[in-house]
Amino acid sequence: MTKQKIVVFTGAGISAESGIKTFRDSDGLWEEYNINDVATPQAWAKNRELVLEFYNKRRKQTQEAQPNLAHKALKELEKKYDVTIITQNIDDLHERAGSKKVVHLHGEINKARSTLDETLVYKIKGTEIKLGEKCERGSQLRPHIVWFGEQVPMMDVAYKMAAEADIFIVVGTSLVVYPAAGILNYVAPTVPKYMIDPSDVNVSGIKNLTIIKQKASVGLPQLVEELMK
Ligand code: NAD
Repeated sequence: MTKQKIVVFTGAGISAESGIKTFRDSDGLWEEYNINDVATPQAWAKNRELVLEFYNKRRKQTQEAQPNLAHKALKELEKKYDVTIITQNIDDLHERAGSKKVVHLHGEINKARSTLDETLVYKIKGTEIKLGEKCERGSQLRPHIVWFGEQVPMMDVAYKMAAEADIFIVVGTSLVVYPAAGILNYVAPTVPKYMIDPSDVNVSGIKNLTIIKQKASVGLPQLVEELMK
């Protein structure tokens, strides 16, 4: 018998309890940095050193963090379901919890890519990309991250996955960063949907949605237990 398809859409909130700050909880500041100074193409054009420093620090923080009960619960779901995770997160906590199918919409902190040819992507050894570190074609390496104002290459793939879901789960995203935030509109109206977030998220007009107003580490293991019955 083919397994039912569960698609899970995650945001910064699922990694909050692993010690990685969400964007919203940091008042639009990630640690001491203003987002416009470090996560836009303009920032990269203006000050590469600052952009690299910002991501080097975040990479170190991510590597020190551990998957929490929410990431682990999603791994558990694979015993019964065909699970795909579409994440806006750049951390690798889903992979480290053991999840097999993870799509990163906004890139991956542990990878670098060429500024000349975006198909040249490299796994970073250690925690840093340094100024002067180059790809095989001689151009500076940049973080493999989708910055604000850049295209999201995986978006169409994600919409297609959402459209094929039998069950759809949203965890820890404020649904304000587009185009990713529009994904719920691609899920069929008849499909059961669950949203786990301790805060109110604007989801007006979405049919068949159960809101679980809990932290991910509490709400997700409970939901997974239900779904495994
Ligand atoms: P966001 O900061 O806009 O929203 C986070 C959401 O998580 C909020 O709705 C908040 O109420 C909720 N939340 C906070 N603590 C939670 C918990 N313990 N359990 C469940 N939910 C919790 O983040 P976003 O919607 O993901 O969008 C911001 C952008 O910044 C995205 O691209 C995001 O991936 C990126 N970002 C990534 C990381 C990471 O990779 N870990 C961290 C910060 C921001």
